[in-house]
Amino acid sequence: MGQARKGENGLLGAIRRVFQPGRPSRSEVSCTHLDQIQDVTPSAEGCEECLKTGDQWVHLRICLICGHVGCCDNSRNTHATKHFQATGHPLMQSIEPGENWIWCYVDKVAMQPEES
Ligand SMILES: [Zn+2]
Ligand SMILES: [Zn+2]
Ligand SMILES: [Zn+2]
Repeated sequence: MGQARKGENGLLGAIRRVFQPGRPSRSEVSCTHLDQIQDVTPSAEGCEECLKTGDQWVHLRICLICGHVGCCDNSRNTHATKHFQATGHPLMQSIEPGENWIWCYVDKVAMQPEES
């Protein structure tokens, strides 16, 4: 019985619908981890670790398992990848404006949710 929360979780909810196991969207989805996606809330306004150290990032990625926000591989600290290495959470999504692709670190496959 979750409260009705507008906005931030809408996109992730849509992704989970699009990527239901057994119902691949327009392209074949070879990732087997999509059923691990949770309705996550971003853990911070920016890269969690970089905010603590006062560092800068290039792009932001969110972990779709726990909501950890980390910086991309073009950033000096690559915290999104480090988060996967530390936790084994395989799925992250770009939260850059206009981007909603998902990357699986294990299957090394990028996925594009359909627009709703
Ligand atoms: Zn996968
Ligand atoms: Zn970072
Ligand atoms: Zn995570």
